[in-house]
Parts: sequence; structure tokens; C-alpha cells
Amino acid sequence: MTVDENVEFICLMFTDINGIIKNVEVPVSQIDKVLANKITFDGSSIDGFTRIEESDMLLHPDLSTWLIFPWGSEHGKVARLICDIYTTDGQPFAGDPRVNLQRIVKKMQKMGYTNFNIGPEPEFFLFNTDETGQPTLKLNDDGSYFDFSPVDLGENVRKDIVLKLEKMGFEVEASHHEVAPGQQEIDFKYENALSAADSIQTFKLVVKTIAKENGMYATFMPKPLQGINGSGMHINMSLFNGDVNIFDDENDMLSDVAKQFMSGILKHARALTAVNNPTVNSYKRLVPGFEAPTYIAWSSKNRSPLIRVPAAKGKSKRVEMRSVDPTTNPYLAIACILDAGLDGIANNYELMPEVKENIYEMTEDERRIEGIVDLPSTLHNSLKALRKDEFVQSSLGKGLTNSLFAAKNAEWARYQQTVSQWERDTYMPLY
Ligand code: ADP
Ligand code: MG
Ligand code: MG
Ligand code: MG
Ligand code: MG
Repeated sequence: MTVDENVEFICLMFTDINGIIKNVEVPVSQIDKVLANKITFDGSSIDGFTRIEESDMLLHPDLSTWLIFPWGSEHGKVARLICDIYTTDGQPFAGDPRVNLQRIVKKMQKMGYTNFNIGPEPEFFLFNTDETGQPTLKLNDDGSYFDFSPVDLGENVRKDIVLKLEKMGFEVEASHHEVAPGQQEIDFKYENALSAADSIQTFKLVVKTIAKENGMYATFMPKPLQGINGSGMHINMSLFNGDVNIFDDENDMLSDVAKQFMSGILKHARALTAVNNPTVNSYKRLVPGFEAPTYIAWSSKNRSPLIRVPAAKGKSKRVEMRSVDPTTNPYLAIACILDAGLDGIANNYELMPEVKENIYEMTEDERRIEGIVDLPSTLHNSLKALRKDEFVQSSLGKGLTNSLFAAKNAEWARYQQTVSQWERDTYMPLY
């Protein structure tokens, strides 16, 4: 491999249990060591990785992920490689979310499918920063959905992000202002599961970097402001065999395989929520009235349920899971969604009928008759659902399951101990 374009440093990237990108930066002089999979790091310092007594871990770069960041530094250009984590005895480390996703993809391939295609729709907010560069809660525009307001700085930042993404090889299909002021969405073309998860991680990094270069702060926090829509990351998905979309049948309808796949997702939906919506704040988005799902159901008619089947044909035939938000670790989310779908194919669970009316307008009785249940309403409840669902735990494997519970139970406990201003405002005048 020749390294050109004045690359001085190589970032070796991987992702921890919380979905945070970690990075070991080496000067380009170390390239031979990098390629020989000989770069080590201390796994015990990374959330959810190893115990102290087995702390050395190896980075195995995936050479297909090589790219040069389209921003300079005074010390020359920086390239990156996304890595799998291996143990020092040469085994892929089961506690690495990226290794785990590849395990589930192999299972899918054994079942006879070649690709799980994922098209994510990440949303984010752009906030102004203060004199010291810290984020404020001031949005810099009051535009809304598909607005044309040429004066708006957010618009320029978004264009800058799209151009940089294209330079990095992203196929950006659309970018637009979202419903809430200050909120943006950029959609890129679907890719196979592993590449899509890599792209989501890279995307978040690019958005944050370019926003900062423009004096703004980008956040993927699901609900930074109350009273307006939060940020989700809808996951569009389909199974392909080579070039053939097997979610599509000969009449442009959803195929039987797609329906079975969906039945698996619906069956495991409550437990999946712990992975797809892993923060306390995720549940402030999953409330009625702001275009986020709160019920477990599917529909081709409206956007209120968990799963929507868009009116698309052929290669674009897909199902869209609408609960997922960008705080998820995409490797974990995609692995668990895929495995739940495969479980649906393997066991052919009965699929609930499609919901044709707006679920928000149905009464509790109407929902009960149709068998529509709620998504968990708090992180605590979704963790309980995951505890009860051994299948979804097996999609994560023992190590990742334990790390997730350790991290998230602690997060919930810290939150439970916090007394908010809302509580003081509400209760002190009364009691
Ligand atoms: P929405 O109507 O929900 O706003 P968008 O047009 O914003 O949808 O995004 C649709 C996403 O679905 C894009 O990322 C697109 O590449 C992706 N997509 C299209 N066809 C498929 C498919 N067969 N499998 C998975 N994703 C797909
Ligand atoms: Mg969209
Ligand atoms: Mg769209
Ligand atoms: Mg959107
Ligand atoms: Mg969508």
C-alpha cells in the first residue's frame, strides 16, 4: 500500500459499547506495523472492553475503510482506518461491537441471504456557540421542514457537510431542514450492514467537525429541547440475494420473507429498544405528538407506528424502523435488528395485521383489540425488557450483554438520583 497526499497521521478507529468512537493515532511511519495488525492498546481503559488482567488488545484494520479526512491540520493530512479488535492470542474479540455485527451477518449468509441493506436517516440539531466556543441552546434559524431560507447559516453548514461527505465517498441522496427549528437531516444511500454502521460513525464525526469549523455545535442528542421534535435515525432495511431485493415480490408487494422478518422485529421490539434507544434522553423523544413512535405496530398507510412500509418498489422495497435514534451504537443496533428479523424468518411468528388508522387517535380499548402494545417508556423499562428477552441477549453475546447492563444500569441510577428543576417548580409551591 502506498500512502500519498501528504498523509502524516493515521487514525485507527473503533467504537465502544456506548457508540462513542475511540481512536489510536499513529504517525504514518508506523504503517508497516499497522498493516501487520501489531498496534496494541489498553482495552481496560475503554468502556465495556476487557478486565484489567487481560488488558492488551490488538487492532486489525479493515483496509476497505481507508479514507483521508477532507480537513487539514497544521501537521499534514490525517487518514483513518476502522478496526476490528482482536485478543493477543489472535482471536476476534467477541466484546467488540463490530466483530459481533460480522458474526450475525455470517449467520444471515448461512441462512442463504447475501446482504442486509441499511439506509439510515440521521437527524441532528445545530446550536450557536458562545465566545468561548461552548454550545448554547440558541438555534440559529427558525426554518422548518424543507424550508428555503437562503440566509440561514445552518443551511450553509449543511451544504458544507454534504460536500465533505461526498469527497469522502458518501452517496448523499438528500439533505433537508427538518420539522424543528435548527434541525437537519442528511440521508445517504443504503449499503450493506457493516458499511452502513461504519458510515454512521463516520457521518457523526464529519457533522460535528464541520459544524465546529463553522462556529456551531452539532448534537445527535435525541431531545435537546422540549416542546419540539427530537432527532431520530430511522433505519430502512431490506435483505438482498446478490442484486435481487427479496423484500419485494412479483406484484411489487412486501414478500413473505419480509413479513416474517418484520414479525421477528415486532416480537423482540421491547427488548430491542434498550439497544436502539440507549440513553435516558432517548425516551423524551419517544412520546406522542412529535412524529416519533410510541406503539409496537406496522403500517403502510401512516407514520405513527414503529415500522412503516414505504410505498416503494423493486430495489427500493424496504421496511423502516422509526424508533431508532442516533445515540445508539449502530453496530449493536443493526446486529440486533438483523438477528430479530432472522428469528422471524426461522420461526414464522404470526404477524399482527397492518394498522391503517393513526394510532395516536385510537383509544386504549381500540389498541387493545388490535393487539397494539406500547414501546418501553423509560430506559429502565427497556432494560427490564432486554433482561426478559434471551434471544436479543444472544444477539449481543454474553460479554456485550453484561457490558451494556453495567453501563446502562449505572446511567439509570445516576439519573434516578438527580432532582430536576421541573420537580422543584412543580412540588415546592404545593407541598
Ligand atoms: P423517508 O421517506 O422516510 O424520509 P428518505 O428518503 O429520507 O425516507 O430515506 C430513505 C432511505 O432508505 C435512504 O437512505 C435510502 O438509500 C434507503 N433505501 C432505499 N432503498 C432501500 C433498500 N432496498 N434497503 C434499505 N434501504 C433503502
Ligand atoms: Mg427522511
Ligand atoms: Mg425523505
Ligand atoms: Mg426525518
Ligand atoms: Mg424516514
